[in-house]
Amino acid sequence: MKARIDEMACTGCGVCSETAPDVFELGDDNIAKVKVETVPEGSEDAVREAAGNCPVTCIEVEE
Ligand code: SF4
Repeated sequence: MKARIDEMACTGCGVCSETAPDVFELGDDNIAKVKVETVPEGSEDAVREAAGNCPVTCIEVEE
């Protein structure tokens, strides 16, 4: 699984980094980043949850 963020749309709300901290982090610019090339197996459900809960739906998940 891979995850991508449309950084132009991200509001920096922090939902993704709270839901899947192994995969997402907020940068110094308060924009979320994807920390990993490939989502670790144990974090896949959390990534799907984060994508579903992102208020501006700017997280794209590639299964
Ligand atoms: S949940 Fe969405 S809007 Fe919020 S920080 Fe993450 S990517 Fe940005």
